Formats: sequence, C-alpha cells, structure tokens
Amino acid sequence: MKSIHEPKDLAINGAPPAFEQPLHVGRPNIGSREAFLKHVENIFEHRWLSNNGPLMQELEQRVADHHNVKHCVAMCNGTLALEIAIRALGLEGEVIVPSFTFIATAHALHWQAITPVFADIDPATHNLDPAAVRRMITPRTSGIIGVHLWGRGAPVDELQAVADDHGLKLMFDAAHAFGCSYKGKMIGNFGACEVLSFHATKFFNTFEGGAIVTNNDELAETARLMRNFGFAAIDEVVHPGTNGKMIEVAAAMGLVNLDALDSVIAANRCNQQAYREALAGLPGISLLSHDESERNNYQYVVMEVGEKCPVSRDRIIEALHAENIRARKYFWPGCHRMQPYRELFPHAGMLLPNTQRVADRVVVLPTGTTIDNDAISDVAAVIRVLVNG
Ligand SMILES: *Cc1c(COP(=O)(O)O)cnc(C)c1O
Repeated sequence: MKSIHEPKDLAINGAPPAFEQPLHVGRPNIGSREAFLKHVENIFEHRWLSNNGPLMQELEQRVADHHNVKHCVAMCNGTLALEIAIRALGLEGEVIVPSFTFIATAHALHWQAITPVFADIDPATHNLDPAAVRRMITPRTSGIIGVHLWGRGAPVDELQAVADDHGLKLMFDAAHAFGCSYKGKMIGNFGACEVLSFHATKFFNTFEGGAIVTNNDELAETARLMRNFGFAAIDEVVHPGTNGKMIEVAAAMGLVNLDALDSVIAANRCNQQAYREALAGLPGISLLSHDESERNNYQYVVMEVGEKCPVSRDRIIEALHAENIRARKYFWPGCHRMQPYRELFPHAGMLLPNTQRVADRVVVLPTGTTIDNDAISDVAAVIRVLVNG
C-alpha cells in the first residue's frame, strides 16, 4: 500500500492505486473451512442433500434461538422468503414500502401482481417515516413492509399503530438486521413476521439463503407448506406452493458461520470505530451512528456526503474506485427510479424528497473480517486528501 498525503498521491491524478487487490463492500464473512468441509463429507456420507435435511433443521433451531423467536422457516434466498411471507400473509392490492431499500423489497410484491407504494424516509435514520406511510394509505392498501435498514430497527411501534388504525397487516424486511435488537427485543419478533437474508454479502451468510421468522404458528405452518410445493405428506398436496427449500450444503455454511458471529461483530465494530476516528472533522462528511443500547451487527459503514463537503459524492466514489477501493452508492437512485416503477409511477419522486436526498449522499465503505485498520487509514486518507484538496 502506498501512503497518501497530498493530491498528487491520488490515483485519479495519475499515481498508482493504493491497493493492488481491490477492497470490496460485502466481501463474505466465512467461518471455519475445516468445520464446513466436515459437514460436506457427512452430507455425502448420508446422501441427504435437500428436503428438510438435518443440517437445515438444526440451522432453523439455532437461528430461532438466536433471535428469541418461536419459528424460523429457512429458504433458498431472502427474496423468495419475502414472496412467500407476502403470500402467506395474504397481502394484496397495494402495500406500502420504502423506496430507499434493495430492489427485492419492491420486486417481491410486483412479482405477485401487488402494487408497491413508496413512502418517504426519515433522513436521520434512513428508515420509513410513519407519518409518510400514513399519507400513502388508500382504500386498496392491505399492508406495510417496514425495512430495518442497515440493521437499525424501523420505527416498529409507530408503524404498528398506523397498521392498527387502518386494519393493515405489517411485516418486516429484516435482511440487514440479523442479530440486531429494537428496544431491547430481538429482531424477528415484530409485525406478523420478519424476513432475513443469508446472501453471501450479508452479515451472516449461507452462500444464498434466507428465512421467515415469526411467533405465529399458523403463518409458519403455511410458509412451510408453500416452501415445499404445498406437500403436507408424501402424495398429499394441500396448498399452492413453490420451491423455496434450503439445501444442506447451504445450511452447513450457516452452522459454521453462526459459530463465527462474535468475531465478525467484533471486526465490524472495530472497523466502524476506526473509520469514525479517521474521518472525524472533515467538512460535510458524516458516518451514520449506531444506537449502542441495542444489539448491532455493524455490517454497514454508511458515510454521508453533505452540502458542506467541497467535493461531490460521485467524485469521492470515482477517486476511491481509482485506488481499487470499491465503495458503493447504495439504493441509488431509489427503487422508484428503477424499472418498472420509474415508468409505472413517473411522479413518485415528488413525495420522496428525503429518499432522493439521502440516495444522493450515501457511500457505503468496505468493512468485514478481511479489512484491517491500516487499510481503513488508507481509505480515509484518500477521502481526507480529496476533501481538504
Ligand atoms: C439482500 C436483500 C434482500 C434480498 O435477499 P436475497 O437473499 O439476496 O434474495 C431483500 N431486502 C433487502 C433490504 C436486502 O438487503
């Protein structure tokens, strides 16, 4: 790594990149390879590859215990888990969601001929603004999907109050919030159900995977049926369904990654702190903070480039990329400005001023177990030299 002290040291000004190997956002966190390979040997030994296998059942139990919730129904990915949750809950017509989220939150509805209606966010937390949700309710609205963005609990109580006032169903996309809490209670216990993602880039991964977590027995049972074509027993199909099953090799990855969670949290937390110190005092640059009274996974280092910053967000991203630091815009330009929603709702942005502002400010920085404090100093040095020009 080279040291960056002044503009002439920056790769965008012709110097060599700071990193030979790129630093990525969302580089997977991987537990013990040895333990994983042992599981794989066992899977071959028993020739039980999928269909409610023993490793998947163990993973479901452990994920449920970890979140203090009654049921965990594991799935092949988070998006399918969302789709099944939406269907099991009987959502229809219109469902209110944030636009500042991963596109899957909206697509899971559209895929089932349900209209996602985008509500604005609170710029301080990036989570849904309950007052904005209230404004988007129409006679066709059947529910709300809150998203615990960056792992921070959405305003659950306020959203529940809106849902109760209007007879709406409430569920959560908790793809970012594995192992997090809200008001001291673990994520997984809110709304009718919550959906986790175990995608490779998430805090906890099973290569690809996801789950519905809920305390509702009936909903869990319906989700289990839907996950396996509606089979209640051999030759007995009692429900419409699809194939949402998690395979054993994915569950094996989950089991070893569960054992490594504490070290991932420790690394992420240490990285957050290092970034915070290294970026302190730069004009217009701020890091989204965590509520230390809650459990956090610290998976996302979210930097905002405000108006007081002398260089633009896009210029910072360009300079970081030139150094092989693959920082990313996130949820830019917002679901409402992606297809098909952009064409379906060309004026949605008029009611989403905070979403558009935040989407234009955010840079997510690389973190995780593969990055050390030296690397973070270099990332920060690039930003500092750019900003101080
Ligand atoms: C990752 C993610 C999903 C989709 O999960 P997959 O497991 O990748 O299908 C849904 N919603 C949000 C907010 C996500 O970040």
